[in-house]
Amino acid sequence: MKSESYYNINDLITTLDRYYNIAPQQTSNAPLFELVLTLLSQHTSDHNSGRAMNQLINRFNSWEEIIHTPLQNIEDAIRPGGLAPTKSKRLQKLLIEVKNRQPDWNLNFLRDMSIVDAKEWLTSLPGIGPKTAACVLLFALNIPALPVDTHVGRVSKRLGLANKNLSNDDLHDVLEKMIQPKQIYLFHMSLIQHGRRICHSRKPKCNKCPLLKNCPQIDVTID
Ligand code: SF4
Repeated sequence: MKSESYYNINDLITTLDRYYNIAPQQTSNAPLFELVLTLLSQHTSDHNSGRAMNQLINRFNSWEEIIHTPLQNIEDAIRPGGLAPTKSKRLQKLLIEVKNRQPDWNLNFLRDMSIVDAKEWLTSLPGIGPKTAACVLLFALNIPALPVDTHVGRVSKRLGLANKNLSNDDLHDVLEKMIQPKQIYLFHMSLIQHGRRICHSRKPKCNKCPLLKNCPQIDVTID
């Protein structure tokens, strides 16, 4: 196995951005919506979590209504996203805590905090880990926090950007420090595309990979 990591992280991002033609970032400015959507997206596809979110907002008129409705009603609404019994409990518990802390449901104050403090606030909510916190900050508020999902974690390790023994939770801070804030979105989106389309968990298509020449993995067998 080669010992060096990928030659330059900016070149890596540029190469993948060109290859996958990543869509420009669009900030939603809706942090609570993003928080709920990301919770619903756990262990399912974007398509299914999107359907669950649509049904949730069509069925209920307000966040307030969701915290007072029987769990069965939430479960029915979010069923397309899978794990509905578990996610309905998590969602109601999460919204109750948000209401306790921010009775007006407005999370825009996170913009005025440091990234560290904003992450801490979000991850102290029930059921919210570093990936969800980073998704809320990046996609809703354009704050350069890096979400590390299974694809970002796997591809980063294969490219030698991070120690393979680190957990995805640990990788958030490690990788975030390596990337310029203005590149965080592109890095995240590029590595997700690469993980989904070429650098698969099993049988990565290295012969089609635009990073093949510099990938530390090319001399080893990947199982
Ligand atoms: S060469 Fe193979 S292991 Fe390396 S990034 Fe490309 S697909 Fe992944």
